[in-house]
Amino acid sequence: MKKKINLNFMLVIVFSVFLTVFLTTIVSYQLFKKEVFSDLSSFVEIMDDTDLVRQMKENEFIRSRDGLRITWIAGDGSVLYDSHTDHPVMDNHGDRPEVVQAMQQGEGFCIRKSQTMDQNIFFYARKTEDGTVVRVAKETGSIWSIYRNIFPVTLGMLVLSFLISVWIARKLMVMIHSQHEEALKNAKLRQEFTANVSHELKTPLTSISGYSELIASGMASRKEGRHFAEEIHDNAQRLLTLINDILQLSEMDDAPDYKPSFESIDIFELAGRCVHMMKPVAEKHGVELSLDGTSLCIQGNRGLLEELIYNLCDNAIRYNREGGHVWISVTDQLVVRDDGIGISKKYQKRVFERFFRVDKSRSKKTGGTGLGLAIVKHIAEVHNADIRLESEEGTGTTVCVIFS
Ligand code: ATP
Ligand code: MG
Repeated sequence: MKKKINLNFMLVIVFSVFLTVFLTTIVSYQLFKKEVFSDLSSFVEIMDDTDLVRQMKENEFIRSRDGLRITWIAGDGSVLYDSHTDHPVMDNHGDRPEVVQAMQQGEGFCIRKSQTMDQNIFFYARKTEDGTVVRVAKETGSIWSIYRNIFPVTLGMLVLSFLISVWIARKLMVMIHSQHEEALKNAKLRQEFTANVSHELKTPLTSISGYSELIASGMASRKEGRHFAEEIHDNAQRLLTLINDILQLSEMDDAPDYKPSFESIDIFELAGRCVHMMKPVAEKHGVELSLDGTSLCIQGNRGLLEELIYNLCDNAIRYNREGGHVWISVTDQLVVRDDGIGISKKYQKRVFERFFRVDKSRSKKTGGTGLGLAIVKHIAEVHNADIRLESEEGTGTTVCVIFS
């Protein structure tokens, strides 16, 4: 996969670099040709106006090899003067394409290969008033010599592009890999969640089914019947709680689309109401419940925050012992502390996982499903709050919710 991405990147880059170099060179060479012919034509025009070629001939002027070559050709094609040779007799030039063209149309152009490698000669010829033709020739680099000159730049661009493409491909791979990993993790979590939900629903439903069957058979005494009905009611209640928790979690799972309405909430006031509500439960468990602190106003969702405080208090009471304490304090954070059974180090991280219970049998007895702290974690996330849990087995647990 990685190799394939790298190779594709490379091919695209090599192709685009070559295409760009090829096209720009062609366009530039066309412009260059136009420019050279226009220069040559202006030059011949000046020569014609000043009668320069006649003066050069009279002075037998010979130019060096690398300059412009000027040739004067009579109407019959014989060479009257050539700036690069003192040879008195030269070939008849009447058949040279630019000369033929100039004779017929007034001016003529032609590009021919030079004997020197990679060089071209540009010819421009113009017919003068007396019927003779003045021709100038200029030697320049051919398109291949331009290509050769820019070859090192092309190579440099290719190497650079290659390095960039490898870098981008690597980044891409890391991204795809982590997305893939996350998708797998999510799929696994979902699968686990579904398996757990089915398992948790099965237990109370099996009880309900069993007890109701006994009642239906008519074999149960009146007293037994009442007991079975109570069991059915308890299990149905447990099912309702479970379903409520699951619904709440799946609703919050849709984050970041999940946006509950926020209002100004006093956490201290909310904790007071919770303590009031939980007092009878605490008394039933022989646990003392107390609250102190000051008002702490934050922007939040009342229902969710109530649920958060309720879950923390519920745990602190439930995983406690006769004569134990629960202290709730609100300062710049919410703290729920208990001197209950505590949680051993190895489970402290896991208690926020869905359906995780330290002591399954105890939890089951007290009706716990292991979703409370998972919900608390979600609610804290929705409110941008941090959760810290400190606990020691046999000594107690402290949970802090720090609102930012
Ligand atoms: P639920 O809250 O859904 O009714 P639960 O209480 O079992 O069920 P959580 O609130 O998520 O689920 O807690 C997970 C587990 O963490 C509990 O089963 C318990 O073992 C442990 N735990 C939570 N709070 C405390 C605490 N204050 N002291 C000791 N153990 C705790
Ligand atoms: Mg709980």
